[in-house]
Amino acid sequence: MENIEEMANYCLNCKLKPCSEKGCPIKTQIPEFISEIKNNNLKKAYNILQENNICSHICSIICPQEEQCEGSCIRGIKSYPTHIGLLEKYVNEWAEKEGYNYKINIEKSVGKKVAIIGSGPAGIECGFELLKNGYEVDIYEKDSIPGGILIYGIPDFRLSKNYVEEVINKLEEMGAKFITNKELGKDFSLKEISEKYDAVFLGIGAPKSSRYSLYEKELKNIYDSDVFLKAYNENKFLKNLGTVVVIGGGNVAMDSARVAVKMGAEKVKILYRRDRKHMPAREIELDDAIKDGVEFKELIRVVSANEINRKY
Ligand code: SF4
Repeated sequence: MENIEEMANYCLNCKLKPCSEKGCPIKTQIPEFISEIKNNNLKKAYNILQENNICSHICSIICPQEEQCEGSCIRGIKSYPTHIGLLEKYVNEWAEKEGYNYKINIEKSVGKKVAIIGSGPAGIECGFELLKNGYEVDIYEKDSIPGGILIYGIPDFRLSKNYVEEVINKLEEMGAKFITNKELGKDFSLKEISEKYDAVFLGIGAPKSSRYSLYEKELKNIYDSDVFLKAYNENKFLKNLGTVVVIGGGNVAMDSARVAVKMGAEKVKILYRRDRKHMPAREIELDDAIKDGVEFKELIRVVSANEINRKY
């Protein structure tokens, strides 16, 4: 498909809109915003997207559209689906280029204050909905920069930190207060915070990696992906990596492998128990990892981390 106009016109504007109702976890008004692209009204398309999702630009870059909205698109039954992700990205890039902003409407104050623990995607979207509906919001973050996994988990070559900063700024403009370097269970308890606010939302994510049951305790130089990715995102590059082996075939595995390349590893290999076409990572992530020189070792079941260390 050549251009945006063609992409937009390909959408059938379905009444039941399965792309939105079934495929999108936050019910983006997909046919509606695409209709505005068809009408050449990009301002309205942007407004529709922003009104529903303050992270629209970020979602257009990192959402697994092929499993979600595009995976539910009617067009995909007989042919390829509407390129919803690309259209959403196009509208956001247009607004960025034009310096166009949309001021979100905020309801009259309801006189209630909510504490949100965690400033990752869940905390951001929860804060956004509450602010729109007239609540006061304080967002607590254990690290020094708000954004959670968007800052510390996803590498900047996949998602520019500027887009996250932009979202945080917008929330602040709407009235949110970010309180950083404050961790639940360390700097305050749930009881303390519950007493101070009308409600508490826990958006702490799943910060601990699941441990590989075959790790030998004494083995050195094994990193959980969250620790490894955080080191990269904080510019704390690990030195003399040599050959790096990444176990797994999902998006986080691809990020980790590409981060190892950027940190200067001599070789990076992904070991996966099935073949490449069954890897859960997005096609685009696989392609980028290949472009970065990552090697794939398929049909390998890891039975001993010690053995891996000897082999690679
Ligand atoms: S299902 Fe596909 S064709 Fe129908 S409205 Fe959604 S994006 Fe357009």
